[in-house]
Amino acid sequence: MMILETSDLSKVYGNGESEVRALDGVNFSVENGEFVAVVGTSGSGKSTLLHILGGLDRPTSGKVTVDGKDIFSLGDEELTIFRRRKIGFVFQAYNLVPVLSVYENIVLPIQLDGGTVDKQYMQQVIKSLGLKEKLYSFPNQLSGGQQQRVAIARALASKPSIILADEPTGNLDSSTSQDVLGLMKIMSRRFAQTIVMITHNEEIAQLAERIVRIEDGRIVKREESL
Ligand code: ADP
Ligand code: ADP
Repeated sequence: MMILETSDLSKVYGNGESEVRALDGVNFSVENGEFVAVVGTSGSGKSTLLHILGGLDRPTSGKVTVDGKDIFSLGDEELTIFRRRKIGFVFQAYNLVPVLSVYENIVLPIQLDGGTVDKQYMQQVIKSLGLKEKLYSFPNQLSGGQQQRVAIARALASKPSIILADEPTGNLDSSTSQDVLGLMKIMSRRFAQTIVMITHNEEIAQLAERIVRIEDGRIVKREESL
């Protein structure tokens, strides 16, 4: 089943002479439970694509369907609710709150949203990410890789349909990056979690299950199954 589909997605920034066509007719789909890497050079449109997939920005034209729902048919408020419920974001910067413990960071979005934490599920996520011994630590007591694992746990906490990851290993060294990617792959399988990751790093992209290439705002037809 397709969980995510775009049809003829385009995004134009600016207007008139300073117009930039960041996305140009992107057709792209992701199956439930897939771990897909979107790879492209700087300026190819990856961030723009990820922002639109997550409902952080609206396209100039075209459609994004998540779980069968055309997300841009929603008004701004509904779109925010959709994003909170259905999408988990992981960014290059971990964005952890320094005065909160690891556990408090992980459950913060659920608490802000007035939801309840599924404790049994959360324990499994925490264990799978190797964070069990770190729950009472604070972010500044953790390595970069550990902080990113906390950010991944936080993204998974609300059981989103899709995790969108923007250069999740951008601040990590090569061997830590491979560890984090390996864990993302395990999480994707264990929790039947769909992950779309953007990266400019070819080696990192190879660690996903499938690679989609983007150049000048267009998906390049050569797709690879890994
Ligand atoms: P990538 O993430 O692959 O580096 P981006 O999606 O950030 O690519 O950018 C794609 C193109 O759109 C680039 O030419 C970039 O300069 C331009 N762009 C991105 N965001 C904006 C913006 N807010 N305003 C104007 N141009 C933008
Ligand atoms: P990334 O490393 O994720 O590709 P960028 O450095 O390309 O991020 O962009 C950071 C932010 O600046 C993004 O929100 C992007 O939309 C915006 N941006 C990128 N290029 C431009 C541009 N030419 N003009 C205005 N904003 C831009």
